[in-house]
Amino acid sequence: MAKEKPRKALQELLQRPGNQLCADCSAPDPDWASHTLGVFICLNCSGIHRNIPQVSKVKSVRLDPWDDVQVEFMAANGNSVAKARYESKIPPFYYKPTFPDCQLLREQWIRAKYERKEFIYTEKQEPYSAGYREGLLWKRGRDNGQFLSRKFVLSEREGALKYFNKNDAKEPKAIMKIEHLNATFQPSKIGNPHGLQITYLKDNSTRNIFVYHEDGKVRLFRGLSSKRAQWKAVRFPGLMNLRPGLVPKLSRNYLKEGYMEKTGPKQTEGFKKRWFTMDDRRLMYFKDPLDAFARGEVFIGSKENSYKVLEGLPPSTQGNHWQYGITIVTPDRKFLFACETENDQQEWITAFQKVISRPMLPQEYAVEAHFKHKP
Ligand SMILES: [Zn+2]
Repeated sequence: MAKEKPRKALQELLQRPGNQLCADCSAPDPDWASHTLGVFICLNCSGIHRNIPQVSKVKSVRLDPWDDVQVEFMAANGNSVAKARYESKIPPFYYKPTFPDCQLLREQWIRAKYERKEFIYTEKQEPYSAGYREGLLWKRGRDNGQFLSRKFVLSEREGALKYFNKNDAKEPKAIMKIEHLNATFQPSKIGNPHGLQITYLKDNSTRNIFVYHEDGKVRLFRGLSSKRAQWKAVRFPGLMNLRPGLVPKLSRNYLKEGYMEKTGPKQTEGFKKRWFTMDDRRLMYFKDPLDAFARGEVFIGSKENSYKVLEGLPPSTQGNHWQYGITIVTPDRKFLFACETENDQQEWITAFQKVISRPMLPQEYAVEAHFKHKP
């Protein structure tokens, strides 16, 4: 039985600044604690802490008995003190996961901090800064959907990620320039807890590959980070980091993904259901979420440049379609979409508005110009 006095003291500690969010994932109102590390954490993170009992012992703040010594330790430490200690030397490119991120990311973050103490001892970060990495990953076949083991090479000198169809092949099957590459963890879409989607541009069109590493220890992509800023490749602080521990996110996450219906430019051929991915200003669509190539893309600029998103479809719209329409107006034409639910419609509109309300960056004009010349 929890005694009243320690319980009350702990409740007061939870009110302190720093202790109101989980020390590891920033989820609000943590009500678990590691009494060996002196941090307050959420239920989910407490489950991860239980897997490293040599480092962390957890208790429920409300339900477990506490003794005075443990409470005093929590009072002397707490999340702010632990942060100053365990996160003191995080490289600027390192992606810190939060509660919406997948289990793998959160677990590796917790292990990097407390078990490997990577952000206390900078020499433990050396693997991220290596300029060359190679290793095997399971890669989804472009057309048959089977995963096959492929050699991947990340070369800082070339500024590229490459993969080879045969281990002894001299010529890579694909060379993906770092500055045109984005990578996101997509476990549910790919159907593997370590599934990673790598998206890159080739001849200005988007290609996807889907990979995973069976034990989550993808050492391949660590490093390169410091160079990345110079390459404007800051967009994916992850690829490099995808590592045994800390699988980071290589990237910006997609603003939204999901099915919508769309019409072609003439709007006479009817609405077709497609999988859409909103990657910053690029709205891409695919027949299937795991397609290698985008069927098409729509660039979405800013309101200053005459881009608008409207709820609903023009009154003249023909044909059968889902009920909840969205019209995107660009300087050239209108794009019509239909969503299955009102909730989807509102989420898509929010995603479109997010980029429309933001002024365009100089380099985005070049992307816009490319799309304008497409039929
Ligand atoms: Zn947490």
